[in-house]
Amino acid sequence: MKIFDNKQNLSNYLNELRNNGKSIGFVPTMGALHQGHLSLLAQSQQQTDVSVCSIFVNPTQFNDPKDLEKYPRPIESDIQKLEQAGCDILFNPEVNEMYAGNEQWHLDLDELEALLEGKFRPGHYQGVTQVVFKLFDIVKPDMAFFGQKDYQQVLVIQKMIDLLHLPVKLVMCPILRETDGLAMSSRNIHLSADDRKHALVLSRTLNWLKQNFDLSQIASLTKQCEDFIKAEPGVQLEYFEVANGKNLRNADQGSKQIVALVAAKVGNTRLIDNMIIRD
Ligand code: AMP
Repeated sequence: MKIFDNKQNLSNYLNELRNNGKSIGFVPTMGALHQGHLSLLAQSQQQTDVSVCSIFVNPTQFNDPKDLEKYPRPIESDIQKLEQAGCDILFNPEVNEMYAGNEQWHLDLDELEALLEGKFRPGHYQGVTQVVFKLFDIVKPDMAFFGQKDYQQVLVIQKMIDLLHLPVKLVMCPILRETDGLAMSSRNIHLSADDRKHALVLSRTLNWLKQNFDLSQIASLTKQCEDFIKAEPGVQLEYFEVANGKNLRNADQGSKQIVALVAAKVGNTRLIDNMIIRD
């Protein structure tokens, strides 16, 4: 695996590959890699000639400085995992390689920015689009692979691609879970043994909703789901929403695609999860 920390060097290298007719797949991450990340890489390897993974903990998408500070950064073991998985290229820049001085960024994300994660993490999606735009500009991928785990992020990135007419195809990949149902996340390492047990209420509730779903009962089902989660010790619910999968507005009888999304603090760790209820 080739490792770059300099964007110009990476860009030059990729230009050569592109001139030789190679298609480029891209998997942006913040590291602390798990099987979920590696499943995105596997998709990229299946669908493109050259796979680039980036590891960059992007400061502009954190609204809580403590969260940024304690974000795990096990770079040596990440490199090992990527080598083992046969990744072609890793881009692992320092902050000053990605940001020079105090630049401005604003993209009109409209209501996508005001809903759900946008509401609980003000500015988060501006930071996400800012860094993903930069990364796309450096890598110029044919295809980019993002996880359904961050469902709203996928809609936000697609919106940026549409608004700015970026020539990249976005692929949303399924959520990988531990055998007991917990969605894999870099943040799971912060969970204590007790937190880890209580965290299961999120996937359990999403599964229950999927099994008991009834379009005419959305309000009461949502209330029951909220109550399950609120009843779990050590878990502080932020939101549980049954939403239209296309725009994340509240789902209604006319919604063709429906997704349930949840965010909660488990102990001191904020977790998100979601499930597609109707496709
Ligand atoms: P992150 O490093 O958390 O920014 O995640 C990088 C990419 O991996 C994002 O597109 C995530 O949606 C995706 N991802 C995170 N967790 C999972 C998971 N459990 N299954 C599949 N993809 C995931």
